[in-house]
Amino acid sequence: MISQTSFISLFHPDSRLASFGADWPLDFENVSPRKLADNGFVYLGNEDHVKCFACGKELQNWEETDNIVEEHQRRNECLYLNYLKSGGSAYDMDLKTALDIAKEIHRRTIVAIESDTADESDLKTHFNSSKPKGRPKKKV
Ligand SMILES: [Zn+2]
Repeated sequence: MISQTSFISLFHPDSRLASFGADWPLDFENVSPRKLADNGFVYLGNEDHVKCFACGKELQNWEETDNIVEEHQRRNECLYLNYLKSGGSAYDMDLKTALDIAKEIHRRTIVAIESDTADESDLKTHFNSSKPKGRPKKKV
């Protein structure tokens, strides 16, 4: 699982790859942890559930013949995927793309908080999708 302090490092594929521990259940060449990580996905630690660090899309129930890029872009606009498709390198992201993606992540977080589907912990744990939504906000 992703620790709360590793948010920035999720911009690097090797850090995303590190989220795929021994619990990753599949042994598919097409849908390997390496390929998922290179395409923006982080393992959520539950069955085969993954989430894109940039657009927040969650995918699961992978099949051996799945195409990661096609599944990623289905009904979805992802700045990171667009960057890869335009020839950008996962390992050498330019600053402008990184900032655009960071802005998009924060925008999504703010929308979630304003619509009361999130609480303060979402600021730290963008990638923990397993907790219940809509809990009352805790005041400290
Ligand atoms: Zn994405």
